[in-house]
Amino acid sequence: MPLSASQTVALTCPQCQAAFNVEVWLIIDAGERPDLAARCRDGSIHVATCPNGHSGMLGAPLLYHDRANQQLFFSYPPGMTEAQIQETGNQLVEKLRSQLLILPGSSYLDAPRAVPLELLSAAIEDRLDEAMAELQAQAEALQNDPVIGAAMRTLQEHPMLVEALLAWMNLELWQDSKVFLAARADLLTADAEQVIGAMLDLARAQNDANAVEDLGVHDEILRTARAQGVDAAYADYLVEGARETVLADPRLELEMRLAELNIRSKADLERALQEHPDLQVLMQRAVGNDPLMQALDALTMAESFQDTQGVARAYPILLSDEGLQALRAFAQGARQNGEPDAADQLETRIAMLEQIRANNV
Ligand SMILES: [Zn+2]
Repeated sequence: MPLSASQTVALTCPQCQAAFNVEVWLIIDAGERPDLAARCRDGSIHVATCPNGHSGMLGAPLLYHDRANQQLFFSYPPGMTEAQIQETGNQLVEKLRSQLLILPGSSYLDAPRAVPLELLSAAIEDRLDEAMAELQAQAEALQNDPVIGAAMRTLQEHPMLVEALLAWMNLELWQDSKVFLAARADLLTADAEQVIGAMLDLARAQNDANAVEDLGVHDEILRTARAQGVDAAYADYLVEGARETVLADPRLELEMRLAELNIRSKADLERALQEHPDLQVLMQRAVGNDPLMQALDALTMAESFQDTQGVARAYPILLSDEGLQALRAFAQGARQNGEPDAADQLETRIAMLEQIRANNV
């Protein structure tokens, strides 16, 4: 029996919803698996990557054992309580000890040293105290920074605005963005401007250039919308006369209705579904009972001719006259709405579908 132990876990990628399996390591014996020990040192041991290349860190515990260096570390993910750390650590030590040949003088095996997951590599390299002092100093510096302190207080004072601003900035199409903003008077306020300013301060403090750029664009839209109206704010982003509702995402409509009804939990939703029959209709549309929307979603994920063939097999509607016509309308709408990249991509897929259709007939 090997000392190192793992579990296979089924995951769904939060970014692209792809289902995949990962091997999650729970016990690693450095002598037996130097390859895994190296991944503990470089911090990649709990990184999971989906088939489409999206990576994330798994929140899993891990027991690390190195007999040569008399090291036994239990590394725990964020969010574990003291009691859980104790219990899970003991279970894993018990499991390791049941397989391990225990030599005299191995008192280091009696209790593992518990370390946060992000400090495991520092612990292995014997510079744990140093790394903890560094983290502590960073946290203090952030707390004592008056700009960051003020920004954090602003965000804490306005949780609803933070949520609304994030939802607004996450919309992919300018058309949807405009519909959202026009419906949310609370975003056209001095408070909202203060909140987006605080987000900008935090993004700058973290040197997050992408976030700074995105927040800057949206900050500008809010200012213009307050001064000159929503239409003027989007004039640079939307071609005038573009059809207003063609591309509006049904999920957006649902989101706005949920915000309007102040639905925050599953229980809220169940109650609201009985009181507001229209919500049921919105849910069905948004969750995608519409086969064409599902097919379009799958098609945007296709990266090659082969992928496109696969999608066409799964969604025959794409090869129908009606389906192709709808896709052309989507592409045209995207172009009119100032999304030329999306339009180009869709048109490439349409050409492939036409070719597939011609070959099949
Ligand atoms: Zn993914």
